[in-house]
Amino acid sequence: MAKSSSKTPQAIRGTQDIFGADAEAFAFVVETFERVRKLYRFRRAEFPVFERTEVFARSIGETTDIVSKEMYSFEDRGGESLTLRPEFTAGIARAYLTNGWQQHAPVKLATHGPLFRYERPQKGRYRQFHQIDAEIIGAAEPQADVELLAMADQVIRELGIVDVTLHLNTLGDGDSREAWRAALIDYFRAVEGQLSEESQERLEKNPLRILDSKDRRDQQFVADAPKIDAFLSDEARAFFDSVTSGLDAAGVKWKRAESLVRGLDYYRHTAFEFIPDEGSAAANALGSQSTILGGGRYDGLIESLGGPATPAVGWAAGIERLAMLVGEKNESWLEFVLIPVGEAAEGLCAQILPALRSKGLSTEMAYRGNLKKRMQRANSAGAEAAIIIGEEELVSGKVTVRDLKSGEQASRPIDDILDRRVGASATRAMLMAGLGGRIYEHKTTQS
Ligand code: ATP
Ligand code: MG
Repeated sequence: MAKSSSKTPQAIRGTQDIFGADAEAFAFVVETFERVRKLYRFRRAEFPVFERTEVFARSIGETTDIVSKEMYSFEDRGGESLTLRPEFTAGIARAYLTNGWQQHAPVKLATHGPLFRYERPQKGRYRQFHQIDAEIIGAAEPQADVELLAMADQVIRELGIVDVTLHLNTLGDGDSREAWRAALIDYFRAVEGQLSEESQERLEKNPLRILDSKDRRDQQFVADAPKIDAFLSDEARAFFDSVTSGLDAAGVKWKRAESLVRGLDYYRHTAFEFIPDEGSAAANALGSQSTILGGGRYDGLIESLGGPATPAVGWAAGIERLAMLVGEKNESWLEFVLIPVGEAAEGLCAQILPALRSKGLSTEMAYRGNLKKRMQRANSAGAEAAIIIGEEELVSGKVTVRDLKSGEQASRPIDDILDRRVGASATRAMLMAGLGGRIYEHKTTQS
């Protein structure tokens, strides 16, 4: 194994090279998301990894952690300030405007990819990380919130993740949020000296963020802070009621979280996070980095980018954190390993290999070492069966199929394997018929 020397460049702090079981878990998260988003008819979209800095600065808010200290911003050779995307939503909103996607509204979008934040790296927190992301743009109805949350819930369930609960809050409409904000400023001003430095600084500009603080000095005041419910307009309350009754009807479990606010300024109405239950295995696996999915309604965002007032709702979930919860995933199932013995046999293998693969049967060829080495390779790869092709087999027009579990063998006509009209399951059944390792359909007695 090649070791790196002191001359070898190191990976950037907070980035990861993902391989093996972790990479399989990562792929499983993305595949599950892709499958579920199609059931909900979200349209796949791809977006640039970088944008003009103002895209993020204007929409996310100057007082947020992301804009104030986490962005990777740089000047390009043309002197323009660009930023590696720290989140999806702002860039998607920009794309919606610059491409005139109003014509598709309401539009349901799904994407995934890398994001970049200058954070202190630790378990579940990286400088390059990845998210799956879903947005509904141009829908003001609470049904959009419900659909989006039902999809999030289904993705998490289909990943087999348990003991994770949807924490749900409303931030009200613009007026409710303003009134609540003023009350929070009054409340926290009375204890200002006891708050963290950061919260003291944010008190006037963004008091909601104090509710989200991880600092104990702030947290002691959060429980008694004014609650949004006292400031909700009738409309905002009715909206929230529709969301919660829609979730109940859809069978999505949720829990009211009155202090839940989202880090970004642009949220209105619905705000939510999926968080592992305290003391659960999921909570242990993630340590203190516990939120796996977060989002909400951002009716004000597109306007802040200079577009028309546009209601929208979305969420994003960290793929690495989800992957940590799905546990080890094995590489995909290997069905057959072809073992040629001699040059003529290798030529034939070159035909059989693509035939099996194009039928949809996972197949590899062992081409290194003697017969024994090749058999070992087939065994250690975890294949179901070895297909051995030697001199004798070439003469008879048949191959030897060896079930690697039972050790039983049978010979099969090469022409049948190469016949492309015969599909995967029929070919597998033909090859494995009568061999004892597993029960195959169309079991026949061996000749
Ligand atoms: P946190 O409170 O953990 O910093 P956040 O509020 O900054 O999270 P969001 O911007 O809402 O996170 O991103 C949504 C999800 O993306 C998070 O719930 C998490 O799963 C994932 N995520 C965010 N930042 C990181 C990171 N630095 N490394 C890995 N995953 C991340
Ligand atoms: Mg963060």
